[in-house]
Amino acid sequence: MSDAEMRRLGTRARGTDGGIVVVGAGLAGLFTALKLAPLPVTVVSGAPFGEGGSSFWAQAGIAAAVGEGDSPEAHAADTVEAGAGIVEDSIAELMAREARMRVEELLEYGVPFDRDLEGKLALGQEAAHTSRRILHVKGDTAGKAIMQALIEAVRATPSITVMDGWNAGDLLLSDGRVAGIALHSADQNRPKRRILPARAVVLATGGAGQLYAVTTNPAQSKGEGVAVAARAGAVIADAEFVQFHPTALAIGADPAPLATEALRGEGAHLIDKSGKRFMRGVHPDAELAPRDIVARAVHRQVVSGAGAFLDLRPFGATLAKRFPTVHASCLAAGIDPAVEPVPVAPAAHYHMGGVLTDADGRTSVDGLWACGEVASTGAHGANRLASNSLLEAVVFGARVAEDVSATMQNYRGDAAPAFDYDEPAARDDTRRIRLLRQTMAAKAGVVRDEQSLREVLRVIAELERSHPDRPLKNMLTTAKLIAAAAFARHESRGAHFRSDYPEANPALARRSFFTLEEADSVARDAVGGEEARPGVVTALHA
Ligand SMILES: Cc1cc2nc3c(=O)[nH]c(=O)nc-3n(C[C@H](O)[C@H](O)[C@H](O)COP(=O)(O)OP(=O)(O)OC[C@H]3O[C@@H](n4cnc5c(N)ncnc54)[C@H](O)[C@@H]3O)c2cc1C
Repeated sequence: MSDAEMRRLGTRARGTDGGIVVVGAGLAGLFTALKLAPLPVTVVSGAPFGEGGSSFWAQAGIAAAVGEGDSPEAHAADTVEAGAGIVEDSIAELMAREARMRVEELLEYGVPFDRDLEGKLALGQEAAHTSRRILHVKGDTAGKAIMQALIEAVRATPSITVMDGWNAGDLLLSDGRVAGIALHSADQNRPKRRILPARAVVLATGGAGQLYAVTTNPAQSKGEGVAVAARAGAVIADAEFVQFHPTALAIGADPAPLATEALRGEGAHLIDKSGKRFMRGVHPDAELAPRDIVARAVHRQVVSGAGAFLDLRPFGATLAKRFPTVHASCLAAGIDPAVEPVPVAPAAHYHMGGVLTDADGRTSVDGLWACGEVASTGAHGANRLASNSLLEAVVFGARVAEDVSATMQNYRGDAAPAFDYDEPAARDDTRRIRLLRQTMAAKAGVVRDEQSLREVLRVIAELERSHPDRPLKNMLTTAKLIAAAAFARHESRGAHFRSDYPEANPALARRSFFTLEEADSVARDAVGGEEARPGVVTALHA
């Protein structure tokens, strides 16, 4: 959409008085919409309602200090420790403090968290948590169970209108504030653009794992929310910090099935080809070391050819009952985990960075909020503590709802209706997307350096010159923000590992903040005006 057209639509949308639009129907989006009730809200989702997004796939569960001997202070301290020096302490503290309240609400919505024989909530152990504090459902099906309960609650809430099959395009701004959002129909046979007037837009579009060739994230996690916000002028924080899950099943599937960390929490070991436990020599906590350390060790094993396997044999026949999802994925790949170790590799899993928000989920753009994985609240720093992301989604979803409600005091659901336009079908960018994902995985992945990041930025620049449609256009924007921030951070910290700066630099123990304009400038300097190498991308123009 041209700038002039955006301004015209923004002015028109402003004149019509908009409502509340939540983009994304994962945990963050649905929790926000439920907490906004009875205020009328439209939930937009590209995928059909009840599908799409990472929340359904969460295996281990949600972290909350609700066990005896545990405390929010201890949970916050573990979160800060895992975040490698750049967690916002106050955010970690309020998230840990509000966890119990949000868990009680999830129980009220009917989430059947596992209980022990005395009927108390059963708590699991995960890496880098100093207490057992992970609430789970039937072993490894927490995400699905939570989402099922919330979907039922949404269906029973008349103030929530679900508009699925629509992907978010650009935000419409008027006088610097959000006036609406442009949507594109997901049905390519009937391409349409819809303008939704809105006074408040909440981005809850999830993560960005699909920017990488090897990822645990579902197809919808393309990082589009970050791009949409950045183009509207929002500040993006900590973009360089992408968490790679150390143990995705290396069976050639896209997305790669996850072998949850809880397996290691319950005693599964990582071994090499010869059966030796390789994490013992890497970190005192061995398999329960922080994720980034385990991910790099697994990466080294894979690259060197020594092999990395998860040994699930000690679980024997109990694996199917205790971890049904992992068990089923192994069997589907023709591996019987009761008799042979399972090959694993690191995979892009969680984006700590995202749209900068304050404690109420407000972004730097007036009228725009963000929560869930698309946001960067400062809770995760350089490395997310396992099972803190479902928690972050509900804690900040509730806070966003409270803040939006306060802003929309006189709103009674009298928002102007949407207006539709026909538009041409988007071009098929499948090959360009594949190139971007492969480049990101090889050059901006578990290990990066100046040269590899330069190459990523060069490929992005050339792909941008090929006039991409969405979703590639959005993917390129978010990939550029990640690569530019990684290029600019001359140290290794948490999930960001630079082989040319392998140590953390105490002077750089601070978060990163980039507007799109600033990322563009870093990218231009990095590429240094060089033309892209002939043949890299040009072959794809055919
Ligand atoms: C395999 C796996 C296991 C995990 N296990 C755990 C765990 O045990 N504990 C934990 O805390 N975290 C876990 N995580 C991370 C956690 O699941 C996510 O961080 C969290 O669910 C994100 O929730 P969300 O609501 O922000 O996004 P999502 O659940 O990803 O939802 C995003 C929504 O936005 C929609 N959307 C995306 N782009 C657009 C667009 N352009 N227009 C319109 N709609 C759009 C999607 O269709 C979807 O409805 C796991 C992640 C994965 C992939």
